[in-house]
Parts: sequence; structure tokens; C-alpha cells
Amino acid sequence: MESVVAGVDIGGTNTVFGIVSSEGNILARDTISTNDHKGPEELIHIVSNKIKELLNNLRTQIPSLHLAGVGIGAPNGNFFRGTIEFAPNLKWKGVVPVAEWFEKELSVPALLTNDANAAAIGEMIFGGARNMQDFLFITLGTGLGSGIVVNGEVVYGHDGFAGEIGHVVMDLKGRICGCGRKGCLETYCSATGIVKTYQELNPSASKETDARIIFEKALAGEKEANEAFRLTGEMLGLALANSVAYTSPQAIFLFGGLAQAGEILFKPVRESFERNLLMIYKQKVQILPSRLRESDAAILGSASLIYKMLEKSS
Ligand SMILES: [Zn+2]
Repeated sequence: MESVVAGVDIGGTNTVFGIVSSEGNILARDTISTNDHKGPEELIHIVSNKIKELLNNLRTQIPSLHLAGVGIGAPNGNFFRGTIEFAPNLKWKGVVPVAEWFEKELSVPALLTNDANAAAIGEMIFGGARNMQDFLFITLGTGLGSGIVVNGEVVYGHDGFAGEIGHVVMDLKGRICGCGRKGCLETYCSATGIVKTYQELNPSASKETDARIIFEKALAGEKEANEAFRLTGEMLGLALANSVAYTSPQAIFLFGGLAQAGEILFKPVRESFERNLLMIYKQKVQILPSRLRESDAAILGSASLIYKMLEKSS
């Protein structure tokens, strides 16, 4: 019998899902729109049926295939309750019992957490943190997400919502954040944040510019674009140095579009990070690019919730 796990990532626009082997290979995958349905219950019903279809197709080659569980990553996912709660990027209201619905539809265990925590577990099970017990995982996308791993476990906190480094306030009088406060880290250190920084440095820049264009301009030697990356790295390095004081990680992984800028981002991050670290931590914490492939991370991360559970029970 070959056990596989379904990984589901519910995003603001699309829901991606796939069947993942214990070696971390995505054997089949599919995507549907998150919002083109009557509501969340209908979405879960359709995704469950599509997962059954994917499994049936795979069984023509591997008849002994067995589904061991469903892992789900979603914004504002609560691990303890298996619910999505008041997610600002989704059109659903209130508290939605997504894990329970998947368990009913597929008759297997379902675990849910927020997308950054899921990716952090993915890094631990299938990526660059395989032999690590203590690390931070940072996603630099539209916002800044984070997963904190201590003693081999994601830190969920007493209510299931721990690990929101993106909403650490860096400047009380700073930029307005989607959370309603001012100066949160993610208003600076994210794909959206770097665009704002660049436009402040270069007010004549086109309104349509994005992080990729700024990256290309920086590579071509443009002063303002390079300065935007330097300022972004400077603030991220400071925030990460402060985070080290809480959990003393072995490494910090950077993931997401902005992290793919490579040295142009990593160099100022590492410099600022070392400069701002407390003496006892200096030269001990690595800042590393994630080893998860961008296109696979959401499905792998979600599935790894179940693989982590299986690892603990065996
Ligand atoms: Zn905020």
C-alpha cells in the first residue's frame, strides 16, 4: 500500500491542490477559482470531488494508493480549531470550519494552518530545514508571512495565531497597514512595500511598476532601484535580528518572489542582520533562500502538515 497525502492551499484568488507522495513529489495537481462558488462549503465539496478524481486517475497506475489525510493552508487558518477565521483576503465572513468539512467529504484526518506555517513545515519535511529544530520561515509576497519553528514544532501560541512577524511595528508614524495600524514590517518588506519605497525615491516612476521591474532596474544599475533594495534589506535585517532574541534560531529562510532577487536583497539583509544582532547571536544564524520551489511550495507545505503528524505518531 502506498500512502499519499492531499495538499490544499486556499488563496484569495485561486485554490490549488495536489496529491503528494512521502518523498515530496506532487503526483497530480489542479487549480480552481476560490470565489466562483456559492460559498466556502461548495468550494470544499468541489475540491474534495476533484481530489477523488485525481486519486482515481493515479490508481490506474498505482492500484494500492491510499489517502492518509488532507493538509490545508489558508490565510487566518487556525490550527487548533481547523477553521479559517475572519480572513481579510477571502470573501467569506466569520469562522469557517474547513477541516471538519474536508474530513466529512473524504473520511480522512484533515489539518489546517495559515499558509506561512504550512510552508515552514514544508521546509522542515521536504526542504532546506530537514535537519533543523529551530528556524524562522519568512514569505515575502504581497505581504510578509512567517512561520516560527522551535524544538521541531511550529509555534501556534495559546490561540493558534502565533507568528505574525509581518505585523511587528517598525515605525509608529509609518505607512498605513491593511491591519489598521501604522508602520508594520510588511508595509516595507514585501513586494508591495518595495514598490512604495521605490516610488518615494523616484516620484516620476510609472504607477504600474512592480517588484520585478524594480529588480531588473537594479540589475541594470539604476541608483534608485538599488537603493530601494538596500532600504528593504536594511529594515528586514533589523526585524529579523530582533526576532532572533525570542527563539534563537539556527537559520532564517526567505521565500517568495522578492527572495528570488538573490544577492541584491540578501546582501543588505545579512549586513543589517549581523550589525543589529545581540553579541551572543553574532555569526551563528544563517540567512538562507528557501529550498522549496515557488510553484510547489503551497501544495507541499499543506501536505506536510499530515506528514508531520504521521512522523510524530510512528
Ligand atoms: Zn499590520
